[in-house]
Amino acid sequence: MNPTSFPWRRACRAATLALLAGSSSLWAQSNVPAASAAAAPVNAPATVVAPTPETVPLLAKPYIFSARRAYVAPQLPDAPAEWVTKSMAWVDIILDAFPPAVDENPARRAALMRLDDVFHLADASHRPQVREFLQSRVEKALREMEAAPSDEHARIWKLYNDGFVVRVDGCTYGFDLIPGVPGRPRNMPNYVGAPAQDCTMTEAQLHRLVAQVDVLFISHLHADHANQRMAAAFLDARKPVVAPPELWSGTELASRLLYAPRSVTDDFPLPIQGGKIKLRVHAFPGHQGPVLNNVYLVTTPDGFTAMHTGDQSIGESQGKDFEWLDTMGDRYKVHLLFTDCWYPDVKRLIRSVNPELVITGHENELGHPIDHREDYAQTYERLWGSRYPFVLMTWGEFFMLQKNEPFLFNK
Ligand SMILES: [Zn+2]
Ligand SMILES: [Zn+2]
Repeated sequence: MNPTSFPWRRACRAATLALLAGSSSLWAQSNVPAASAAAAPVNAPATVVAPTPETVPLLAKPYIFSARRAYVAPQLPDAPAEWVTKSMAWVDIILDAFPPAVDENPARRAALMRLDDVFHLADASHRPQVREFLQSRVEKALREMEAAPSDEHARIWKLYNDGFVVRVDGCTYGFDLIPGVPGRPRNMPNYVGAPAQDCTMTEAQLHRLVAQVDVLFISHLHADHANQRMAAAFLDARKPVVAPPELWSGTELASRLLYAPRSVTDDFPLPIQGGKIKLRVHAFPGHQGPVLNNVYLVTTPDGFTAMHTGDQSIGESQGKDFEWLDTMGDRYKVHLLFTDCWYPDVKRLIRSVNPELVITGHENELGHPIDHREDYAQTYERLWGSRYPFVLMTWGEFFMLQKNEPFLFNK
């Protein structure tokens, strides 16, 4: 890192974060060595190494409990039901008035950040208003899917977390579809209320979703991406489920999955709709740490290509994934990139893939502990300044990537 190369924006950040950093006695709560955590003066010259949310000892201020939330307004662990009810009603209206867009209305951003606040309540997944919000948003998406054609434009729905449906060129495919919040939140092991499984779409909605989608791609085994009930519904409907190696091995369900051959160089044909259409599928051999994570590249017969990274995240020194990730855009034309909002260096990933459009996923995963429910505010911060168009979506929302979209610069 060349400290003199930062533009003024980063220098201003250094000054802001220096203000946030407090007494040195609290630095021990950070994982940052004291030497590298020395606070920059307020009017930091360009020679100061700009801190990042990961490197600044922000715990010195009581309203920040995690360095991940460096640029996020403080949230409360609890809130009255009335506030949640009114918030969700307002959010619903704003999201409908201002749907997902590259050039976003500021009111929409405020609504997504209010969702951040609600989803960071400690018991968010046990709130009836949150379940009703999820089910009503899924219902909206299902009604749209049931009416939408499949033509040369890419129609995209976000369901929950990292789950997306893409309809384009006569086919419809889904990535990491799950019914909703996956089980008991890990940060509440002694919770005795209603099981978090209640915060899901209904059984009827799940089957209506399966009816609309030709094939399901599962990136990896974690419960916020892979769900046996969902996979079984696809398989029972004679629709393929493409999975990483050994997912649910030993079960009856596993014998019906299609384990994708993981390869840096080779894709494979995947017949759908009873063989009427063949997708080209490339399952890149990715990882989330030690967990095998398929990074899918799916191409329709008419050439529309979407990539979904699952929870791809591995250190530079931990494997060879960067060898194929860093050159992705040189070798493939990717129209649409779905990436985790919390991918460690998301701008590097986007540059490497060089897509027409970026859509982030995994915000506010309610099955995660609160400090790992990365919120929309953080996504805006992480993508700020990216020259690639991106769209933020929440549960049940729709976006259409039109062929020859005027905002696309990367043709
Ligand atoms: Zn994962
Ligand atoms: Zn995940």
